[in-house]
Amino acid sequence: MPRDSASVFTASAPDFQRALLAWYRASARALPWRESPSLYKTVVSEFMLQQTQVKTVLPYFARWLDALPNFAALAAAPESRVLKLWEGLGYYSRARNLHKLAQQLNALPAEPRTPAEWRELPGVGPYTAAAITSISFSAPAACVDGNVVRVLARLTAEATEFRDSASAAKVFTPLAEAILTVESPGDHNQAMMELGATVCFRQNPLCLTCPVRVFCAGVRTGEPESFPRLAAKKMEQRSVVRVWCERRGALLLHRAEAGARRFANIHELPTPEQASLDPKNAVRGPLLATKRRGITRFQITESIHEVAAPRGKTPAGAVWVRVAELNDVTLSGPHRRWITEILQRETARAIKSSAPAEPRRATSRLSRRRPSDADRTPA
Ligand code: SF4
Repeated sequence: MPRDSASVFTASAPDFQRALLAWYRASARALPWRESPSLYKTVVSEFMLQQTQVKTVLPYFARWLDALPNFAALAAAPESRVLKLWEGLGYYSRARNLHKLAQQLNALPAEPRTPAEWRELPGVGPYTAAAITSISFSAPAACVDGNVVRVLARLTAEATEFRDSASAAKVFTPLAEAILTVESPGDHNQAMMELGATVCFRQNPLCLTCPVRVFCAGVRTGEPESFPRLAAKKMEQRSVVRVWCERRGALLLHRAEAGARRFANIHELPTPEQASLDPKNAVRGPLLATKRRGITRFQITESIHEVAAPRGKTPAGAVWVRVAELNDVTLSGPHRRWITEILQRETARAIKSSAPAEPRRATSRLSRRRPSDADRTPA
């Protein structure tokens, strides 16, 4: 990044810090991890907040603290319980890493206190290490996430086009370190993130009431929203077929194996291959739903077809789960929503129908008898 824009801004750092901290201390949101703060609350919140908004995290954080109030309780919990508490937050490797982190911390003679030590622990990158150690141990480490990149790019009106937010974060890290309030690094970092989250919005930033407006080169250009300059993302289109197989009140799900990188032990509707079905036949089954979602650089269209259950043994990696017991297993967030939606729709259709006989096989999913245990994995 050009030296002049950064150095002009760095020269005013003491005044900027005072304005930023005064605003933060007067206006910060009352968040549960900021009330009676503890290392445990900070670590859990930082893991949950990775790629996730505060409003989404709040109910998960409350449930988590109730169920697993400290590192010892988390370390002792079975992974299935940890994943269940995380269900719907996505990026499940965070939950598994947090679990492993608690187990490793419990085995250490003392808490690590520096960013370098924290980066040795599972799931802790530069940002999380800086956040945890600056908030909990006043380590002079600057946090640079997407919010902070946006704020710094606007404060300096940085015109460089970055490949993505991660490469921009690397470039802005020296500036973030140069303007860090070393006497209060935890408050400073939280103030920068708070400013990005509540004032310096991606669209329509609240420049008129911004506490650091006088330091902002971006607002003086008249187009603060044009910063940071990020190259347009190229999205790749992908199509995925999923199958809906029911047998005697149980639904066939695929459970990713324990060593899987992203979805270990998480259940999802299977693809035809995972259900040992012919993909060409599967797409001939009635279409129950079409869902679209974006994951990283992929735009994925998933179609869910109702098909007859596979013959013979339960396919490897698949499990039959009673519809009445779906809440007992951990489903990925989107699949939980899709399954709930399909079941509710079919139940509503069944209730609406006055005919005693069901118009089609799928209309009585919730009202079928509960199968015996032997039905769970029918041969
Ligand atoms: S003045 Fe506007 S663009 Fe600049 S930091 Fe504040 S909210 Fe962001």
